[in-house]
Parts: sequence; C-alpha cells; structure tokens
Amino acid sequence: MNTAIYPGSFDPVTYGHLDIIERSAQMTDHLIVGVLKNNMKDPMFTVEERLEMLREETRRYANVEILTFEGLLADFARECGARVVVRGLRAVTDFEYELQMAQTNRKLTPELDTIFLATDLRYAYLSSSIVKEVAYWHGDISAFVTPYVAGRIREKV
Ligand code: ADP
Repeated sequence: MNTAIYPGSFDPVTYGHLDIIERSAQMTDHLIVGVLKNNMKDPMFTVEERLEMLREETRRYANVEILTFEGLLADFARECGARVVVRGLRAVTDFEYELQMAQTNRKLTPELDTIFLATDLRYAYLSSSIVKEVAYWHGDISAFVTPYVAGRIREKV
C-alpha cells in the first residue's frame, strides 16, 4: 500500500492545509496527516484540539487518517510504513528550510522521499500564524479557515 505522511503543526488547520490534503489524498492510497507534538512555544490549540479540527474537516476523505507523533519524522514514517512525505511550498522563503529538512530525512532514512506541492494561488499568503494574528484583533478570518475552525478560534480569543 502506498502511504504518505503530511506532517505539520496545524495550529489550526487552514484552507491552505486542506487544499494540500485534498490534492495529496488523490495521489496516494493512504494519507496520514501527522500532527507534531511539543514543537511550538505558544500554541493556540492543544494537540488534541488540532486533531479534532483536522478530523472534522477531513471526515469526507476515506483514505485520510489523522495521527499525532513525537520525535523524528523519519522514525514516525518508518513506523507507519510510509515512503513519502508531503509538504506544501508557498514561497521561496519556505524553500531553504524545506530542502534542508527533506535532505536530513533522506540521510536518516534513505528510502524516505519528500514531495512538494505548490500552494494554490488562492492560499499562497496564508499561514496559521497570520490567521491567529488577524483573529486576535477581531478581523474577518472567513477566507482563511472553515466556519467550524473559525468558531473554535473565536472561543479562544
Ligand atoms: P510546520 O510547523 O511544519 O511548518 P504548518 O502547520 O505551518 O507546520 O505547515 C504544515 C505544512 O503545510 C508545511 O509543509 C507548510 O509549508 C504547508 N502549508 C502551510 N500553509 C500552506 C498554504 N497556505 N498553502 C500550501 N501549503 C501550506
């Protein structure tokens, strides 16, 4: 079975993430969205809350599974039997870090390859931190996240 992992913080999941999930779920038999534990200094949502929102928003995809992991992505990928990591690329600024991560992961696990999906132009500017910033000042976030996620954000701010 062809399994891929889409790892990230997803604090919280945005339309940019959902676009990458939908597109990569069509390319693989099984897509695992991996929510990384303990990687953020000051998260808005707990890992459990992030999982909940991702599960809600991906319920319609039969081949998408939402899991959490701790430690090295290369180890998590091996445990899941995944040979492919999916990452989204928004701008050149993402590139340098992403390339370094992809090469490190291949060094640790040579059979693990990373594929990059170019962001949909509609979401090229979009990041979880921008959404949180706008929400903090009570701006309109309806173009960035689903109504359900927007509601969860409103409860926090
Ligand atoms: P991380 O902390 O690993 O960067 P994020 O949740 O910010 O976690 O992002 C997870 C992945 O989703 C990354 O590959 C990131 O480049 C990608 N991503 C985030 N926002 C967008 C977007 N608007 N369009 C495409 N890809 C995105």
